Amino acid sequence: MANETILYIEDEKNIVELVKYNLEQEGFRVLIATKGNAGLELALKSKPALVLLDLMLPEMSGLEICKTLKLNEKTRLTPIIMLTAKGTESDKVIGLELGADDYMTKPFSPRELVARIKAVLRRSQEKLPEEILRSGTIELDITKHELRLKGKPVEVTAKEFELLGILICSKGRVLTREVLLSKVWGYENSVNIETRTVDMHIGQLRKKIGKEAERIVTVKSVGYRFDGE
Ligand code: CA
Repeated sequence: MANETILYIEDEKNIVELVKYNLEQEGFRVLIATKGNAGLELALKSKPALVLLDLMLPEMSGLEICKTLKLNEKTRLTPIIMLTAKGTESDKVIGLELGADDYMTKPFSPRELVARIKAVLRRSQEKLPEEILRSGTIELDITKHELRLKGKPVEVTAKEFELLGILICSKGRVLTREVLLSKVWGYENSVNIETRTVDMHIGQLRKKIGKEAERIVTVKSVGYRFDGE
């Protein structure tokens, strides 16, 4: 278990130092991100053995990050421990529903955190979760990385698959092109030319999902929204 990399996404500097010290004492390698976007990017790039995720973060919330990591083929099996402030019971529940493996309430003892990390790592090496996202006639099989319409497989690219997953997970909410870019492509500060990439992929995706394409709504000069149950 030694030398495994833990990514810690947290904006409170004093907790960061304390936790980092304790984890390094246990032989872990520790990566730190203090902002949501940067944390997500680092998670996708560095493929850590586990992500320690604070809920309240600048730029992108821990819940958004959790959701995105669990949808991404590269990180969907990466265990996540959520760190919540007191009195955010509903976030805890949402976090666990989104696939977080465990949570701890602040303030916590570093020693207990280390014990939890070890337990979660042990468990994650044993199980292979199965997950399917459903909406209307769409089924996104995260385990097989397969899109099905009315039960029939439809060929999509990895990016189209992730885009659709993020849209479905955020249904009813408008997602800007910048947010979609940073989630699917991992660009932090996207420029105009790059946002067209999103439009292009949405266009391709719409062609492939038949009648369900109506549910990917273009919100003029903002981005996209997925409508429906
Ligand atoms: Ca925080």
